[in-house]
Amino acid sequence: MKSKFYQSVRERFIRYAKIDTQSCAGADTVPSTQKQFDLAKLLLKELEEMGASDIFLDEHCCLYAKLPSNIKDRNVRSIGYLGHLDVSPDAASAGISPHVLENYGGGDIVLNADKGIVMEASLYPRLSMYIGQDLILSDGTTLLGGDDKAAIAAIMAMAEYYTEHLEIPHGDICIGFLPDEEVGLCGAKLFDIERFGAEAAYTLDGDGAGEFFEETFNGEEAFVTIKGLNVHPGTAKDIMRNAVEIAADFIAMLPAMERPQHTSGREGFYHPTSIMGSVEEAEIRLILRDHDGLRLEERHNYLVKCAETLNARLGEGSVSIKFVPGYRSMKPVVDKHPYLTEYALRAMRDCGIQPRISPMRGGTDGAVLSQRGLPCPNITAGYENAHGRFEFVPVESMAKNAELLLRLNQIYAEEFLNT
Ligand SMILES: [Zn+2]
Repeated sequence: MKSKFYQSVRERFIRYAKIDTQSCAGADTVPSTQKQFDLAKLLLKELEEMGASDIFLDEHCCLYAKLPSNIKDRNVRSIGYLGHLDVSPDAASAGISPHVLENYGGGDIVLNADKGIVMEASLYPRLSMYIGQDLILSDGTTLLGGDDKAAIAAIMAMAEYYTEHLEIPHGDICIGFLPDEEVGLCGAKLFDIERFGAEAAYTLDGDGAGEFFEETFNGEEAFVTIKGLNVHPGTAKDIMRNAVEIAADFIAMLPAMERPQHTSGREGFYHPTSIMGSVEEAEIRLILRDHDGLRLEERHNYLVKCAETLNARLGEGSVSIKFVPGYRSMKPVVDKHPYLTEYALRAMRDCGIQPRISPMRGGTDGAVLSQRGLPCPNITAGYENAHGRFEFVPVESMAKNAELLLRLNQIYAEEFLNT
């Protein structure tokens, strides 16, 4: 039997996915692309039609709404749910054409017969988890945008349900949709936490189903500048300092196994992302990642030591590093509010989802928001193969998430019943 949310999440997702909301890295405005407003305005209208309160779309394309508490004389926590509006710039997003494959029977999926685009089951073994379910797919020429519209569909379906079932008791439910998650978590940096009005919140993001993240990487970026000395190579003996070679030496000093391609789970890394330069000057960009804040500091200090070692050999000022702090794991903040994890895991179990807590190997809006004072762990949104043309979303996963949010709100509503 289909979930009571099945139709709502399916129709909503297809409607939202068709709107191109791709963000753009390196823009100096938020939102990075005006087209993210197209989806925000549609959601605003739908929230208005449902009768949600406090609906507001700000100039940064952050959308806020509330379902006010209908429980009198009891102190129920106000809890928020967040999703991001943008889709990744990593794959084409113009003309997304979602279609539904009902009752997936296993095996390869032809996404586009004309162009011969096939999703091979042997390359995507996680497909087998969804046999018997209804999968929403792109036509193989664009991404689908399940990241993060699967979350938006589930949150909107939940909201709609409450506005049609006023008899269900709940506290303040705050809803927020943000731009530019995919390009540096920029929406979260400008999101108006006070206007949002929640005591704590959950982001819905991330692939797979049933995973819960209360921990992300801590991130930092390093810009290493190397000053060389260029003279004619014919007369360079004992004079030339080649910045290209010094850059190579610097990278060679980093632990070879502590790189993204050799690490998993809670293992951090050094990741050189670009190198540019000439004999005269070179620049290396690196990102440092670690779940453990102290270990991130050690990585930072190790880079400083590498620079000092090279400077001792080549002269002071030959190698200098500028560090730019990135996001911080939400774990120290979330740990102060153990109910966030406890209730989410209970709600998952109550909905027949076997919860798994894993360290997220990336950042989320929730990492930035937690750092800014809104404790915010993450519930997976249920999409698969994000950021690529083989992205897909099982309708059942979205419906399950809507159910999960309903159950979670119920747990919050009952929290103070016996006190
Ligand atoms: Zn996402």
